[in-house]
Amino acid sequence: MKVLPIPKPISGGIFLSYKCNSACRHCMYACSPRWSADWISEKALEKILTQLAPSIQGSLSGPDRIGINYGLHFTGGEPFLNFTLLLKATKLAQELGIPSTFVETNCFWCKNEQITREKLQQLKNAGLNGILISVNPFILEEIPFERTRRAIQIAQEIFGKNVIIYQDTFYRIFEILKLQTNLLFENYLELAADSLQYVELIPMGRVPYTLGDLFQKYPAKHFFGCSCREELTRAWHIHVDNYGNYISGYCGGISLGNAENLAQLLEGIELENHPILNAIVTDLQNLYEIAVNNFEYEEVAQGYISKCHLCVDIRRHITQCTKEFQELSPREFYQHLK
Ligand code: SF4
Ligand code: SF4
Repeated sequence: MKVLPIPKPISGGIFLSYKCNSACRHCMYACSPRWSADWISEKALEKILTQLAPSIQGSLSGPDRIGINYGLHFTGGEPFLNFTLLLKATKLAQELGIPSTFVETNCFWCKNEQITREKLQQLKNAGLNGILISVNPFILEEIPFERTRRAIQIAQEIFGKNVIIYQDTFYRIFEILKLQTNLLFENYLELAADSLQYVELIPMGRVPYTLGDLFQKYPAKHFFGCSCREELTRAWHIHVDNYGNYISGYCGGISLGNAENLAQLLEGIELENHPILNAIVTDLQNLYEIAVNNFEYEEVAQGYISKCHLCVDIRRHITQCTKEFQELSPREFYQHLK
């Protein structure tokens, strides 16, 4: 029997929930206000963090410093929608000695200086090492830039160098444009279309459905021969969602198993019991053929922007036809892609 080996994770993120105040066009995990308000339970959180703690590695600059692909971050969805839980998660990670912890936010909650300062200080006091603040034209559609600016300025006072502005280029461009409020993407393009060359847009998740026109498209066969074994067996920047799904990297909607039983998961995945995973790690052509032959999948006539577009579109179609494949979890992911 073929077994897919899963390495011990050395860095990762915990989704407190998929629920978000925003439904950004570029969201890899299809988060949105329409998601069920399911939050990770404290019991599950404790179980998962306790098992992750021994293998998580801190930043090369030290356990008190942060880096995107080091340590552990709390994310979603928008973690500040449930600040009480975020605070508890932070304390737990601190008690377990997990290095290089940070939270990722879109800053919707930074409505004034007092709220922003109080919340960030509470997190710092609870042991959080830093923060990642999302800045790009898609976040800008929903979040007034004055909140982002406020968050960055106060975060830098509280967390010092441990503030990642992702992407810093857009922070500087928005400052040059003297933005204050939020701005529709179409209106932003009128002001600074050239700046899109700097956007780090991963062509997966919701991107193919909402921003597909920005990309060149190819027929399905262009991606035949591709295997995702490497992407699905990486040890860095893995995610665990609020349902316990263990997700490799950015591959939303693909569960490698239950992170509450991490030891068992790390023994490897029997691919015979996971035909969709088996196809993905072998050749995307196999995935395509399963979908066409068993579920009447029809190739998208306009083509696909990436192998991830082909992969997610097929998976989405399959979840509409059957509940058979446990690796296609959480199923709600597939309902919020468009
Ligand atoms: S990209 Fe971030 S802010 Fe936007 S919908 Fe996804 S989780 Fe929410
Ligand atoms: S093709 Fe699918 S499995 Fe491979 S990296 Fe993209 S989303 Fe993940």
